[in-house]
Amino acid sequence: MLNVILFGPPGAGKGTQAVKVAEKFELVHLSTGDIFRANIKGETELGVLAKSYIDKGQLVPDEVTINMLRGEVEKNKTAKGFIFDGFPRTIPQAEALDLLLKDYNSAVDVVVSLEVTEEELIARLKNRALTSGRTDDADENIIKNRIQVYKDETFPLKDYYTRRGIVKVVNGIGTIEQIFSDICTAVAGE
Ligand code: AMP
Repeated sequence: MLNVILFGPPGAGKGTQAVKVAEKFELVHLSTGDIFRANIKGETELGVLAKSYIDKGQLVPDEVTINMLRGEVEKNKTAKGFIFDGFPRTIPQAEALDLLLKDYNSAVDVVVSLEVTEEELIARLKNRALTSGRTDDADENIIKNRIQVYKDETFPLKDYYTRRGIVKVVNGIGTIEQIFSDICTAVAGE
């Protein structure tokens, strides 16, 4: 299996790139944000719960997120590998992912850290709000909250994986194709 984490703050371009990387390396793309949004649309119990956090720019609780992610991995038992987009976002999520992949005699192979300045992130998210219909993009205070949550809870994961020597830094500013090419180099070189 080849397991890739696409890591970075909101607005770094993870979603756009993850779709392309999944296609190229034949990986199953798991975006926890997309799965939550599909549940919100379908008005499921999980969707109702997730919405109450997402609309405030807060993280959905670990237990809920981990159970959902585990279910998605189990649905794809024969996958060649996964690209995780927006997961893990906390240390407990990263630990849960390690345990889960161990069950498949596998592990996280590479963490691509997409790096973008904060000013650029805010500009991109405000721009995305014009077309995404995402309530969490529409309000600058919620955007700032999401970036703060990223700094406090998610950024420490970079260290967690750096200690294993599996982090590859990619500049997230440039054309979609240039960034994609840099990500592919990072993934292929593992
Ligand atoms: P995203 O589409 O990745 O920007 O995620 C949108 C929102 O979904 C986040 O701001 C969180 O509220 C929630 N979310 C997505 N992934 C996770 C996760 N791994 N842990 C907790 N909450 C998440």
